[in-house]
Amino acid sequence: MLILISDAFAPDLPEKLSPYGDVTDDKEKLPEATVVLVRSKTKVTREYIDSAPNLKLVIRGGVGLDNIDLNYAAEKGIAVHNTAAASSIAVAELAFTLMIALPNHVTRADSTMRAGQWAKKELKRTELYKKTLGIVGLGRIGTELAKRAAAFGMNVVAYDPFVDSSEVATMKPDLKDVLNNSDYVSLHLPLTEETRGIIDAEILNEFKDGAYLINTGRGKTIVEEDVVEALKSGKLAGFGNDVWYSDPPENTPLIDAPNVIMLPHLGASTKENLLRIGDIIESIVRDFVPTD
Ligand code: NAD
Repeated sequence: MLILISDAFAPDLPEKLSPYGDVTDDKEKLPEATVVLVRSKTKVTREYIDSAPNLKLVIRGGVGLDNIDLNYAAEKGIAVHNTAAASSIAVAELAFTLMIALPNHVTRADSTMRAGQWAKKELKRTELYKKTLGIVGLGRIGTELAKRAAAFGMNVVAYDPFVDSSEVATMKPDLKDVLNNSDYVSLHLPLTEETRGIIDAEILNEFKDGAYLINTGRGKTIVEEDVVEALKSGKLAGFGNDVWYSDPPENTPLIDAPNVIMLPHLGASTKENLLRIGDIIESIVRDFVPTD
């Protein structure tokens, strides 16, 4: 059995998987592969599946399955697994990093210092303490973020039509109720027909003036041009972004927008998480290998 590691995983993964078959990272060997391991870079499209006649199992190291044609995989009898629970802390910590970095002007303070400027008077900080964080999508990651925000003395509200109650956030039945009252809005949504472009010009009007937006969910849940306009008008005080229309982004208008912190899709990329993902993948492969 050939196991193809198609994206970046922990360096010890090939060794971990070696008892179960031959392991390669040579993408040319896709036609021979029985198991393919992907993160978000490899797109498991209909064409990809058609060029892998031996494929029986796709494992997505991470959460979102939007880079995999799930219907076609099912039609072809290919099992698809993810490692959903592994990444929650890594992503929540990154969302929190952005939530601290934005109002403390960490990147601007650093770049002005390097440019020989002393911007002490211009860079006015604000505190998280007693501010309201609105979480959109209160799943695993949103819940971890809520716990961290509570530790900083923040008030946490959330919108998630599939969650009735929560111990870590006050649920609001309407997205607008969250946006009207939040100083920070953090998106933790999967990309679905309902969430695609959910943050557009119309809904941005519902934000508090001068709110901060953070997106570590999926890039296509926001309309980038509309977020840029909101940043230029001051409706949004800042935007912290880890996720893009494509990895890497092509011609994103966010490059020239004010008060944006941009990250290259680092949410899941902690050492600890890659090790956790590796352990879960090993157990999935172990269960998959026929025992006789
Ligand atoms: P999850 O499934 O536990 O949580 C997602 C939540 O969104 C669920 O509670 C669901 O009910 C809610 N939701 C769905 N549709 C909604 C809607 N229309 N409005 C409001 N809420 C809605 O998933 P998770 O583990 O918390 O991950 C969330 C997302 O984060 C993933 O789908 C993935 O896209 C993204 N993610 C990003 C990174 C990264 O590297 N930045 C890493 C992992 C996951």
